[in-house]
Amino acid sequence: MEFATKAIHAGQPADPTTGATIFPIYQTSTYTQAGLGENKGFEYSRSGNPTRAALETCLATLENARFGLAFASGLAAESCLLATLRPGDHIVAGDDLYGGTYRLFERVARPMGIEISYVPARDTRAYAKALTPKTRFVWAETPTNPLLALVDVKAVAKAARAGGAKLVVDNTFASPYNQTPLDLGADVVFHSTTKYINGHSDVIGGAIMTSDEPLYEDLKFYQNAAGGVPGAFDSWLVLRGVKTLAVRMRQHEENAREVARYLGEHAKVRAVFYPGLASHPDHELARRQMRGFGGMVSFDLKGGLAAVKRAVKKLRIFALAESLGGIESLCCHPATMTHASIPAEVREARGVTDTLLRLSVGIEDARDLIADLAQALE
Ligand code: PLP
Repeated sequence: MEFATKAIHAGQPADPTTGATIFPIYQTSTYTQAGLGENKGFEYSRSGNPTRAALETCLATLENARFGLAFASGLAAESCLLATLRPGDHIVAGDDLYGGTYRLFERVARPMGIEISYVPARDTRAYAKALTPKTRFVWAETPTNPLLALVDVKAVAKAARAGGAKLVVDNTFASPYNQTPLDLGADVVFHSTTKYINGHSDVIGGAIMTSDEPLYEDLKFYQNAAGGVPGAFDSWLVLRGVKTLAVRMRQHEENAREVARYLGEHAKVRAVFYPGLASHPDHELARRQMRGFGGMVSFDLKGGLAAVKRAVKKLRIFALAESLGGIESLCCHPATMTHASIPAEVREARGVTDTLLRLSVGIEDARDLIADLAQALE
């Protein structure tokens, strides 16, 4: 079955009791049992809920994984992965990470005895060099947030495996429509489903997909034991959102290409970061490991912070807001918004400067988006 068909049907047969074509919201915390130990596969909704189960099956199918687990947020999914580690265990992470992931590593995992080393995100050899006998996870976002650098998943997966570690990929920016890291050798893929998967900026959610059964069993145990699960209604909203992922991603990309091209020729723009541009340093890798380049475009504005402040104030269609991946266009200033939790000197050293703006290009008419940028940059 092709992607767009799976996104609409996987895990969602007609409801066996009523025939409802759209999978129902099982808004229940508990399940009546016929007798001791006699149930229909569900006992309590933290442990399992049919609507959540449908979402987990659908997302696993889209990532070509055997197993899926849904969470109350992307960070709850990441916490679940970290909970499988023990004091003294080590993570090698690409250094261009979502600020909240960095905060989770530094302020939650490190105080609990987990060691983390950062390597330049696109430096394939650096991952192998940083491995130690204690490395359990190599952790990479690709494309990265906010600089849109790519990690060579095949090469890094090979290095991780040779060192006895598992490769974990944050696939939030690409979405499974554009990239399926497990097919490239990664062991685990996770998402903030808040973003492209739900696609309508009305849910916070997360998910982990893997085909590694022992790891899945550990993660599933923790999902229930710690309880960071999504409710039935949120699960249903994500199920509804993901049905249109294929058409949305095509339009996001078409618009992002036009916006990137426009910004690339603008006199007030110092640099544009979009993997779909032939000038992007990872363009060839993007063509190899992705099926499309996505809808995220970052750019560096000339004129210092004052110019950035003036431009964002004038935007009319692009909303100045955190998050990404929704149908509407957003503009974010990573230094003061999504990446504010990274110390300024670390952030600047990684290239997330005060003049960097990140666009989540929505699916409005591209002509309106470009006109909005034009008047804001005037
Ligand atoms: N990963 C990436 C790439 C993100 O951009 C985000 C949120 O912005 C997260 C993970 C965390 O997800 P959530 O906000 O759903 O907890």
